[in-house]
Amino acid sequence: MPKQKSFCDYVVEHVNQAATLISLDPYIHSILTKTINEVTINFPVKMEDGRIEMFTGYRVQHNNVMGPFEGGIRFHPTLGIEEVRVLANCMTWKAAIANIPFGGASGGIQFDPTRYTFNDLERITRRFTFALGNNIGPEYDILAPDVGTNSQIMAWILDTYLSTMPPHKRQACKHVVTGKPIKSGGSQGRDKATGQGIAFLVQKWAEEKNFNLKGATYIVQGFGNVGSWTARLLKPLGVRLIAVEDFTGAIFNPEGIDPDDLCEYVKKNRKIAGYAQAKSVDHKTFLQTRADIFVPAALENQINSETAPLLNVKLLAEGANGPTDPEGDQILRKKGIDLIPDILCNSGGLIVSYFEWLQNKRSEFWELEEVDSKLHTKIISAYNLVIDKSKELKADLRTAAYASALSRLERVYKRRGIFP
Ligand code: NAD
Repeated sequence: MPKQKSFCDYVVEHVNQAATLISLDPYIHSILTKTINEVTINFPVKMEDGRIEMFTGYRVQHNNVMGPFEGGIRFHPTLGIEEVRVLANCMTWKAAIANIPFGGASGGIQFDPTRYTFNDLERITRRFTFALGNNIGPEYDILAPDVGTNSQIMAWILDTYLSTMPPHKRQACKHVVTGKPIKSGGSQGRDKATGQGIAFLVQKWAEEKNFNLKGATYIVQGFGNVGSWTARLLKPLGVRLIAVEDFTGAIFNPEGIDPDDLCEYVKKNRKIAGYAQAKSVDHKTFLQTRADIFVPAALENQINSETAPLLNVKLLAEGANGPTDPEGDQILRKKGIDLIPDILCNSGGLIVSYFEWLQNKRSEFWELEEVDSKLHTKIISAYNLVIDKSKELKADLRTAAYASALSRLERVYKRRGIFP
């Protein structure tokens, strides 16, 4: 039986398609199809109850021609090297589109964090950071939150990393991690950055389409960092949230679900199931919900040949990485559903990670208004770049986004050349 295609295969397809379209120099294409470094670490952890458990962690560094590697840390039971590799790839493309002087990396640990105590999570995180050793560094490879991790995990990573540094270097190394709590050197606005970027892009899309967001409706898949912040930031624009799905199921209320209230509920219960202000619906009904905007903000491969025909929306704003497969893409195009592709749509987190890194390096602290305004400028200029590229190449926005990234990286390689 032929192997089922993965998110990794799709990204390779997108890159190849865009490379052909812009006639990317073959030697640059071959450099960019490989990762620079891949680290797999098996490490033991002494748990709270005295047991020793083995874990497997990864850090993949895809490319650093634009600047130091940067990318998320994911804690998930099915995480494997292939997924980490493709996430690292995506970070390179995102940084290039947003014109951020970072390269792409990704990493994480293969385990289910929801099954461990707070104290054990700390032990696992610290032991992994220690095991990573010099494979990370503030001017070399910078970490950020992703699925299953948050600012608390980033604080433990930071503290462990700094503890391995000579005392006189510690203050100068805080920027090894972004997405930290504000009191540990984090930036204003980093928590909500990915959602804020998505909200800015949805607004921009609406302006360009002459579409009135007031009274429009949206649905969100995944109610973690990205999904919940996007939901909360769309609310002040007058858009009504009518359905939400997470790993425990889906809920629906045509009158509207208050994202702030749902957030409070999820903080207490760690799931949306049982939320009393909406009725529970199955996965298919959730996908069929008639709404204006759909924000997938969970995992990859959610919109495919089986699920794309069910969608009843005008815009798909990809909060997650790789939520749509190529068959899904084709179906969306046939149905006339607009799409803001992941490597543009969810780049707000990367952009504000860069701002946090800069603030740490310069010992500065920017107010929230400054962070938001700089994020707006960066993400809208990335959007304009992709729109212009799609007009120039007569290509869809996903292909145009990849083409924009590849063109920018090609220019850097052409100037710098290859040593020796
Ligand atoms: P998170 O762990 O905070 O939340 C993930 C959410 O997805 C949870 O609500 C979970 O219940 C839900 N979920 C998991 N499996 C599901 C399923 N099968 N069906 C429906 N819901 C499901 O993760 P996050 O940080 O919000 O990341 C979500 C997506 O956004 C990922 O693809 C991630 O790579 C991407 N992303 C995150 C950031 C960031 O700054 N955190 C930045 C860019 C992209």
